[in-house]
Amino acid sequence: MARDPRYDILFEPVRIGPKTARNRFYQVPHCNGMGYRDPAALAAMRGIKAEGGWAVVCTEEVEIHHTSEITPFIELRLWDDRDIPVMERMTGAIQAHGALAGIELCYNGLSGSNLHSREIPMGPQALPISTFMPDPVQGRRMDLEDIRNLRRWHSSAVRRAVRAGFDIVYVYAAHGLGLPQQFLSRRLNDRGDAYGGSLENRARLLRELIEDTKEAVGDDCAVAVRIAADELCGEAGLHKEEVHEVIAMMAELPDLWDLALSDWDNDSVTSRFGGEGEQEPFVAGVKALTTRPVVGVGRFTSPDTMVSMIRRGVLDMIGAARPSIADPFLPRKIEEGRLEDIRECIGCNICVAGDFTMSPIRCTQNPTMGEEWRRGWHPEILRARESEARVLVVGAGPAGLECAQALGKRGYEVALAEAGMEAGGRVTRESRLPGLAAWARVRDYRLQQLHGLANVELYFDSALGAGDILDFGFDHVAVATGCHWRRDGVARHHRTPIPVADGTAVLTPDDLMAGGRPAGKTVLVYDDDHYYMGGVLAELLADEGFAVTLATPAAEVSAWTRTTMEQHRIQARLIEKGVTIRPHTAVTALGPEGVRTACVFTGREGAIGCDAVLLVTARLPEEGLVEDLKAREEDWADAGIASVRAIGDAFAPGTIAAAVYSGRKYAETLDGPPDTGDTVPFRRELTALEDPVRGLTVDPACTPVRGSGRHPDSSGRRDRASPSRGGTGRARRAR
Ligand code: ADP
Ligand code: SF4
Repeated sequence: MARDPRYDILFEPVRIGPKTARNRFYQVPHCNGMGYRDPAALAAMRGIKAEGGWAVVCTEEVEIHHTSEITPFIELRLWDDRDIPVMERMTGAIQAHGALAGIELCYNGLSGSNLHSREIPMGPQALPISTFMPDPVQGRRMDLEDIRNLRRWHSSAVRRAVRAGFDIVYVYAAHGLGLPQQFLSRRLNDRGDAYGGSLENRARLLRELIEDTKEAVGDDCAVAVRIAADELCGEAGLHKEEVHEVIAMMAELPDLWDLALSDWDNDSVTSRFGGEGEQEPFVAGVKALTTRPVVGVGRFTSPDTMVSMIRRGVLDMIGAARPSIADPFLPRKIEEGRLEDIRECIGCNICVAGDFTMSPIRCTQNPTMGEEWRRGWHPEILRARESEARVLVVGAGPAGLECAQALGKRGYEVALAEAGMEAGGRVTRESRLPGLAAWARVRDYRLQQLHGLANVELYFDSALGAGDILDFGFDHVAVATGCHWRRDGVARHHRTPIPVADGTAVLTPDDLMAGGRPAGKTVLVYDDDHYYMGGVLAELLADEGFAVTLATPAAEVSAWTRTTMEQHRIQARLIEKGVTIRPHTAVTALGPEGVRTACVFTGREGAIGCDAVLLVTARLPEEGLVEDLKAREEDWADAGIASVRAIGDAFAPGTIAAAVYSGRKYAETLDGPPDTGDTVPFRRELTALEDPVRGLTVDPACTPVRGSGRHPDSSGRRDRASPSRGGTGRARRAR
């Protein structure tokens, strides 16, 4: 199908300095938890974005110098020439598909604790390091020599970036992470020299770095600036008016302006707290200040919103991190007129959690994210089926839906049986809770895909038992029957049930999602789950007029949502809605009048009166069906059944992302070699060992340098081998 002409404007080329972007789709820099540890996987992930039609594909922040690094977070590094081959792998993967490769060079200054290098961080003034952890590290004030050094290091990194083949090199002054922003912001810059005081002075370092970068890149590489559009702390910090002034001062100096709210949690707001295009008020007006292209983000998934951003003169290019993670093929789908195939980001920030947990990126909507290289998965292309096997999938929650659609795309004949009258399972239920409506996209995308698959049948009102399944005679049975919340208080703090006195009103999230409500007025929510559910249900009950207390053994509400960068918003919302929060509190016994509690530190006992208790604790898999089938294993052969496996929450309750991934994994591996656990079922890279004498890195899977420690020419000369230019040798991948 051809694209709708009203989207033509999105496919106009855009000039960025000496380069031309083929369209207006711009994958802005984003973290991914892979960085220097998983470079091949990272390159493949970026390459898929280019294949999916993005005109520009950027790295995450790239540390330019060992005196500024953000361990334990895993980003890319360009500390010296030995890092160039990793970068070349990425530029190659991106440019192979006709996209421009951008690199976000970063000197973290007061946002990097240097836990790895143990160098003392430095910034505009002496202050404790502000990062995502309260490391006991303070930075020192940079003097003029430090600034000269920094400028030289930055230029060296720029030259390395150009050697690695990047088309666009960034000066990074955003998210509170880039040093030039720290100089710009009056709350971090108290200097009395030429780099402090007036806005012009505070902007001096940014100007110098842009000028240095322009000089270092030469004629065939563009220079972009990523700048904080607002720090959202009013006059105390960098704010929109000042930022616009800075842009006006240097309007034509860089080749592109990329705007992002600061800090990162303000930039990547979850859908619970912000909608599509919500940064527009901060970016509007910038285009009038410069002729250079302006990029901005806003979790854009609707092509109509994108067109409106361009037509109304807000942006020149549609910046995206999360929409490009959820659907690396978003531009191609618009171009090919396949809007219904767009896998829209749900704004859950599970992708961000990858970075915060230092694990490879994952995405709720896109189970192939981060698996492109290590498992060979592709977001759009699946291996053709390898047999005529017919598969029954039981349960149409996220695991069952993903499993059925992926099996269908492989060409298998599939029946998807759902007990209820609607699809989506937990996603449908949870998307009805406050702020979670966008999560229904997980269901909607997969239902849409099923409509286009003649080989997949979806049956509602089909609660299947073991007998039914044996009668049907499918070759394989995937059981995706989900899970239920426990009613006995067992979770993390309590590993055995909490005593419950007769007459106590105990509810679980399932009860509330099914429409049940407490009989009285006061409810205690006991959250020993620590993700979103406890906070969301406290909000729901408060909205409905209940007097709500939320007790948790953790220090804060919904503690794990720190990794999705929304914990502070959740806690603020609950406080605003009048929910009483009792941290560090374990519930030890439940009764009709209330609960007994214990301080998690001292064990000191207490009590909280309430009419009902909502237990948000652990969940139990719905494994009855698998057990019934296993109990009749001797009948399988007659019924033609070769395998029965639980997937998703029915195998082990987890996130929606984990359920989708589980469904995909089943579909990707059906008819493949059995995973017995005896070999690692995915590719990984190993650190290349350095030869003790030559200093050369050697591939640990290959024979080390001849003579183990002696230089092969026996001259005794220490050949430190000039750092590689061509990307060979120094960082060879272990097979
Ligand atoms: P997951 O997150 O693993 O996909 P969900 O709980 O979201 O799990 O979805 C499970 C789905 O399975 C629900 O829609 C439920 O109605 C359905 N289901 C549970 N038991 C059966 C059964 N025996 N036969 C058919 N469908 C079932
Ligand atoms: Fe969007 Fe969630 Fe995927 Fe991140 S993990 S890209 S927020 S759907």
